[in-house]
Amino acid sequence: MATELERFRDEVREWLELNCPASMRTPMVDSEIPWGGRNAKFPNPDTKLWLDRMIEKGWTVPTWPEQYGGAGLSIEQAQVLEQEMEKINARTPLFSMGIFMLGPVLLELGTEEQKQRFLPDIARGKRRWCQGYSEPGAGSDLASLSTKAELRGDHYLINGSKIWNSEADQSDWIFCLVRTDFDAPKHKGISFLLFDLDSPGVDRQPIKLISGSSVFCQTFFDDVKVPAENLVGEENAGWSIAKRLLQYERQNVGKHLNKSFDIKLWDLAKKYSSSADGQIEPDLRSRIARQAIQDGALGLLIERLEREADNPNAGSMSSVMKVAMADINLQRGELAIEAMGAAGLGWQGDEFPEEALGEVRVWLRGKANSIEGGTSEVNLNIIAKRILGLPDPQH
Ligand SMILES: Cc1cc2nc3c(=O)[nH]c(=O)nc-3n(C[C@H](O)[C@H](O)[C@H](O)COP(=O)(O)OP(=O)(O)OC[C@H]3O[C@@H](n4cnc5c(N)ncnc54)[C@H](O)[C@@H]3O)c2cc1C
Repeated sequence: MATELERFRDEVREWLELNCPASMRTPMVDSEIPWGGRNAKFPNPDTKLWLDRMIEKGWTVPTWPEQYGGAGLSIEQAQVLEQEMEKINARTPLFSMGIFMLGPVLLELGTEEQKQRFLPDIARGKRRWCQGYSEPGAGSDLASLSTKAELRGDHYLINGSKIWNSEADQSDWIFCLVRTDFDAPKHKGISFLLFDLDSPGVDRQPIKLISGSSVFCQTFFDDVKVPAENLVGEENAGWSIAKRLLQYERQNVGKHLNKSFDIKLWDLAKKYSSSADGQIEPDLRSRIARQAIQDGALGLLIERLEREADNPNAGSMSSVMKVAMADINLQRGELAIEAMGAAGLGWQGDEFPEEALGEVRVWLRGKANSIEGGTSEVNLNIIAKRILGLPDPQH
């Protein structure tokens, strides 16, 4: 007799078959990623149709409670949904820092009023969020941050600046770490605030990168007024919220990289590096196989961590996942370049196939994985201290 989960799988498969438009079952290029937000644009109407249908099911945030826009699915059911979407190459209908980072934190630590105010909008992609953590003088040593928030009656007054804010110029709101006590030990004077980036006094300046494009901003705050009710948690107790959010960030960087592997390596090697009879050279073949095994093993670890969200070590385990993913992703990129032979040497130009240029860019982007969400060195320190119990060399 079919189990409940098997019946759920059948229902999901049937629904996806009927509701996922054909053009939403194709690989997505960066410019097509649906980030939502006040200014969201949908050049392909199927993207909007697919998003609306998934919103209606509560499947943009399947495990969130229904009253906040989710479907109240168990982790196991959500994994079934993901597996069935993967089988038909269905695109993720909505990406956002709201879904992967802020939402889970608000579900755990927000007030009921904050949950009702922010979560349904995140689930429906109405508001695009960015992260205001790093500062010019506070990266790895994040707790040294100095953006100042002073309570003035019913609002905070914010002054200072944040840096490396991904897509801040495309975002609507920011979740931001601010210093509310300059006399307390540094971890104990930090608060976690939410505010609208269109508030007077906010200035977002894109940072031009060597590639010519810009995903980052430096964001300046000059007497920005933020209603006091936008404080999450207690004043000066923002550090533990910040860490919790980093756990979700690390977990999700890992998860998304793992999903994006979906082993095109065999196809690339067959297309560009095989002999006339379709054989891939044995050394390359064995390295691709090893890569596939590592990807698979990490995929299983990710699924396990999702099921064990209450595990007290989940925070440090997200560091394991993030470090491993950053390495494995880079290794994968290098194998892809190698497998493509001369086609993998291009940066631009009609003589290079588009897919090869895409892989080269993915490889280069992969280098940032060991920095974003906390560098690999910092995460290795966490693993050494919290998981392995090694002594802290700084003390
Ligand atoms: C793609 C990308 C997206 C990002 N998006 C955002 C964003 O949206 N919002 C945001 O707030 N920030 C963002 N960041 C910034 C990111 O969080 C920081 O770059 C990161 O935390 C490192 O800080 P830093 O750049 O100041 O480097 P530093 O802290 O100056 O580190 C420099 C080097 O020293 C090493 N190091 C530092 N301390 C130690 C230590 N104790 N032990 C061993 N080694 C150490 C580091 O590992 C690194 O190699 C993003 C970064 C990238 C690359």
